[in-house]
Amino acid sequence: MDLKNYVTTIENYPKEGILFRDITPLMADGEAFRYATQQIVDYADELDVDVIVGPEARGFIVGCPVAYELGIGFVPIRKPGKLPREVATVEYDLEYGTDTLTVHKDDIKPGQRVLIIDDLLATGGTVKATIDLVEKLGGVVVGCAFLIELADLDGKAKLEGYPYKTLMTY
Ligand code: 5GP
Repeated sequence: MDLKNYVTTIENYPKEGILFRDITPLMADGEAFRYATQQIVDYADELDVDVIVGPEARGFIVGCPVAYELGIGFVPIRKPGKLPREVATVEYDLEYGTDTLTVHKDDIKPGQRVLIIDDLLATGGTVKATIDLVEKLGGVVVGCAFLIELADLDGKAKLEGYPYKTLMTY
């Protein structure tokens, strides 16, 4: 199945000069969504994963069905102020300014083997911040998986030393 048939490209969204890859048609198609999920499940099968970790919001959509299929848990990474219990926090650089991500401190146990899942790898800032959070709590990042990699933005450089899989490259 060619998953690119289920991704639409929107020019100048959310800002002038940006080409946004929209995965909602993929999610809306049962067969394509199941196929994409299964590709990531097959990747996870080789890694002996204990828990899936995904950043909001599209990381939830892609990561949760993988966790369900594997019969393991899912841990959400969220923007500040969204998680009710004690959190670990990481700040990371954006093109202009900084952003912060949080995770419940007790959601990841030391030594747990973690697969990080998000919809898309661009500059790699989000996944690198997520890796830092997992490692802060003693988790071991055994891999990362994305539906899409935007090769020009070189997120790969931020993932040096971490294995990852992408289903589509633009
Ligand atoms: P990065 O931190 O790697 O620069 O950006 C990746 C994050 O931004 C992901 O969480 C992803 O959801 C979001 N993102 C950036 N560009 C796009 C895009 O073109 N399409 C979609 N669906 N998400 C994007």
